[in-house]
Amino acid sequence: MAKDLLIGSHVSMNAPDYYLGSVKEAISYNASTLMFYTGAPQNSYRKPLKELKIEEGRALLKEHGMDENYIVVHAPYIVNLANTVRQDLLAASIEMITTELQRTAAFGARTFVLHPGNHLGAGEDLAIQTLVSSLNQVFQNDGTEVKIALETMAGKGSEIGTSFASLKKIIDLCDYPERLGVCIDTCHMNDFGYDVHDIDGLLKEFDEIIGLNRLLVVHLNDSKNVRGSNKDRHENLGYGEIGFETLCAIANHPLLKDVPKILETPYVDKKPPYALEIQMLRDEKYIENWKEKI
Ligand code: FE
Ligand code: FE
Ligand code: ZN
Repeated sequence: MAKDLLIGSHVSMNAPDYYLGSVKEAISYNASTLMFYTGAPQNSYRKPLKELKIEEGRALLKEHGMDENYIVVHAPYIVNLANTVRQDLLAASIEMITTELQRTAAFGARTFVLHPGNHLGAGEDLAIQTLVSSLNQVFQNDGTEVKIALETMAGKGSEIGTSFASLKKIIDLCDYPERLGVCIDTCHMNDFGYDVHDIDGLLKEFDEIIGLNRLLVVHLNDSKNVRGSNKDRHENLGYGEIGFETLCAIANHPLLKDVPKILETPYVDKKPPYALEIQMLRDEKYIENWKEKI
């Protein structure tokens, strides 16, 4: 059981400190967890693990009482495990995700967030079959126990995995259901059409369809767009269509106590907003016009 509010943000991993720098960045926001990419999310180049100061970062995490069970790695954007159109890209995606799970394990992390993919005109049913076959290959070969948390998507373009029902279908069809969980993204759920203001109702629905034991990560973002817009543009807490009150209630919800909440809100004037956003969520108190204080 986590004692503190499990809250963090996406953090960077850059030279010269790499993972040590990521952990320092999270600590500077007074976060209790963090999410990172093991390399640039938009390409497949990956630095060798031995250059990433992983041991130093892990030691600092431990020193600050941050539990590795709750840290999160995010998959690169370029993969599409549901690609039914290009076999070469599908094969490259399977290979990359297999390696990414091994890299995730090397950081001591246990949870890897993945966008289910895009059907590219082939339709969701065929895309789900392809995704499931890809996941089976990944889990057969990666040799780790890292869980993949399938993220709920906004339904932009040909994204699959927007509803609880479709994620449940993926989990049920997979040969390794014990390796699968879910990441709910508040911006994506709003943009797909869920009423995130009714969080109790949503969690009840999630529990009935998927089971709350599979809820591994919450991405806590406000949304620039109205419910059902299928857009996926994140906004800072209190500046969007969801609003601070709802996002704060989600962050502090008793049923989500042991689920890491991760901010993926935009920078403000090239500066990270996370220290202030985390402070407001911990205090459960909104600071009017807080962006002006960054
Ligand atoms: Fe994501
Ligand atoms: Fe997200
Ligand atoms: Zn998003």
